[in-house]
Amino acid sequence: MNLILLGPPGAGKGTQAKRLEQAHGLVQLATGDMLRAETASGSGLGRRIKAVMDSGALVSDEIVIEVIETRIAGSDAKNGVILDGFPRTIPQAEALDAMLARHELKLDRVILMEVDEAALIDRLAGRFSCRSCGASYHERYNRPKQGGRCDVCGAFEFVYRPDDKPEAVARRFAVYREQTAPILPYYEAKGILSRIDGMAEIDEVTRQIEAVIAR
Ligand code: AMP
Repeated sequence: MNLILLGPPGAGKGTQAKRLEQAHGLVQLATGDMLRAETASGSGLGRRIKAVMDSGALVSDEIVIEVIETRIAGSDAKNGVILDGFPRTIPQAEALDAMLARHELKLDRVILMEVDEAALIDRLAGRFSCRSCGASYHERYNRPKQGGRCDVCGAFEFVYRPDDKPEAVARRFAVYREQTAPILPYYEAKGILSRIDGMAEIDEVTRQIEAVIAR
């Protein structure tokens, strides 16, 4: 099973993708995480894309498509993937179709997490993640259960993203409306787009996603 989780920044795609990974043995392919790993590596490419990412703009289609294709071609993707944060533009959606065809894979569902923009800004403002395993948390809505210790791996260090600053958040929403939202009709026309309520409680959102997958 191959899925896309779509939705604006802060919709909870990463949180739900991690749950789907565990429940179904799928692999989460999050382009944001891959690009952040590239910037952390200090490579030439990493240095070039860091400023773009920190500002909230999109990295070029060419770079992102190359990054994702390497992973889709990898053996761990054979049991199915959850694409999180990709595609984000029409050219990326078209490139995805072509690469899936090349690897004889099929896209089963595109799940749109519908959310309220004002509430999302509030969500983004407080979020952080485990430095070692990437599990995501929120200062008000989803704190680690045991004080400052990651629920998943037990590590004690957490990180905040530079692009969760208010100016970058505003830019990311504008980019979503202008460049990413236009891909919705693309998937609607293929009859594989399902909408769920991304504002519900985390467990309820998972339940809705599971209901879509079971159909
Ligand atoms: P995310 O973690 O998905 O919110 O992505 C963080 C940032 O990485 C975005 O604001 C973009 O700068 C970059 N990025 C992630 N995925 C893509 C993509 N599919 N296309 C272009 N840029 C991306």
